[in-house]
Amino acid sequence: MGLIESIKDIANIIQKFGNIDLNNKILEIGSQALEQQEKLFKLEAENRELKEIRDISNKIERHNTLYLTLNDDPQKLPYCSHCWDAEQKLIQVEPRNNNEQYFCPHCKHMGYLNKIPRDMNYSQENYSYDPFKNL
Ligand SMILES: [Zn+2]
Repeated sequence: MGLIESIKDIANIIQKFGNIDLNNKILEIGSQALEQQEKLFKLEAENRELKEIRDISNKIERHNTLYLTLNDDPQKLPYCSHCWDAEQKLIQVEPRNNNEQYFCPHCKHMGYLNKIPRDMNYSQENYSYDPFKNL
């Protein structure tokens, strides 16, 4: 039996005594118990969400051109790093320009996959991976 059910049982017993003060007090306790239960449900949901974010964070592989992959994903689907960093959302990016670039349908960011942008000083080996080749 849960807390709310126990309070309802006590309220039914108290009602038989006809004491208004006692009756009002048990109604107040019941109301407070419901509020606490709502807070608990919200905290449990928030905790589940934070655990999911932590679990995903532990799997993230970052790439120099600002897309993400997950280390346990054999397909290595590419996700938007902007959306993850700002909102902790895994948004799969779409290939553009013969898989040289990606586009995020959520934040509209366009980034490079295998091509070194002229103003970046990275080595070519960082750009040899094509996350769209198996799609
Ligand atoms: Zn995005």
